[in-house]
Amino acid sequence: MHKITADYIFTGNAAPIKNGIILIKNDGTIIDIIDPKNSTLSFDNVKKYEGVICPGFINTHCHLELSYLKNEIPQKTTLPGFVKELVQKRNNFSEKERQAAINKAEQEMIENGIVAVGDIANGNSTFQLKAKHNIYYHTFLEVFEIDDELAKSAFDKVAQLKATYFNKNQISIVPHAPYSVSKSLLKLIVSQENTIFTIHNQETDSEKAFFKEKSGKLYEQMAAFNPKVATWENQKDGSLAHYLPYFKNATSLLLVHNTYTTKDDIAYAKEQNIPIYWCFCPKANLYIENTLPDFTLFENENCTIGTDSLASNDTLSVLEELKVITENTPISLEKLIKWSTYNGAKYLNIESQFGSITKEKKPGINLLTNINLEELKLTQDSSIVKLY
Ligand SMILES: [Zn+2]
Repeated sequence: MHKITADYIFTGNAAPIKNGIILIKNDGTIIDIIDPKNSTLSFDNVKKYEGVICPGFINTHCHLELSYLKNEIPQKTTLPGFVKELVQKRNNFSEKERQAAINKAEQEMIENGIVAVGDIANGNSTFQLKAKHNIYYHTFLEVFEIDDELAKSAFDKVAQLKATYFNKNQISIVPHAPYSVSKSLLKLIVSQENTIFTIHNQETDSEKAFFKEKSGKLYEQMAAFNPKVATWENQKDGSLAHYLPYFKNATSLLLVHNTYTTKDDIAYAKEQNIPIYWCFCPKANLYIENTLPDFTLFENENCTIGTDSLASNDTLSVLEELKVITENTPISLEKLIKWSTYNGAKYLNIESQFGSITKEKKPGINLLTNINLEELKLTQDSSIVKLY
């Protein structure tokens, strides 16, 4: 058993404990967490760290399989431009290069204190590595097809891929984005046994015009892929109204990006009574769209953090994402740590092991250093050491 302490312990789901002490087994299982104010315990042999301690991070949105595209796609092209570049470049790499990039990216996540990942996949290139369980993964197999009549064949193709995965409890088929899945395809998606879902939501400004007016940059790009998109009905309430009503029975649904989500959209989403989580990937938003969501609109919602992929980010680090939010909003460190640990674990239904420093859990333990301790805020120089 070890005893460790730091200036503050952030447990993930409660107020920080000043000079709190964690009793922990060699394998990282928490024995106890003690507030020195209320304890007569002997504090001999306590290892003291400078900074704050928090649980292992949960990265709720990544595309590990795209790791080979690091530094390949120009920045600030907006989403339609990004997709165009991705389609052009994705065939320029060998399987060996892809595997090397995937392995390196996982190593980077481990070093950055990430213990669980919600990972989007279109193929099977990450399955072998995931079966080694270096990190906990829930894989989201992405499906898209605009044409209603082709919904079944598109779904069946992805279902075949799903059947080859090593653990059927940690995989679900999910819609790519509101503008790329027809209503028939949505019906098939929500009929699955595993109902942890995710979707890219309101990542680009032209998503609004796509649904409200059937026009704009995104609409034109999708119509070029398949003119059948013209048969879709207009949605005066925007993209959320196209898909949210289908997810009434979801265990949890993660909406990713939300860069152009408004107060009215949030209100509409809440009316649906679905366990919705809002995931932010600010560094990817800056990379692709050069803009950020209005985080303050979401302060009282269930939020999580994602890194997105190395195609649109230079790091896979939850801490680096939190720094961007800190620079741009007054949201407290306590809340940001809750978003990046406890909420992510709840979303992925893994809170029995991850997401909080609680007796008998094995959540991973991160030390964050170079913190502004007076204001309890991250700084540009904040860095991370994985302790357990
Ligand atoms: Zn994504």
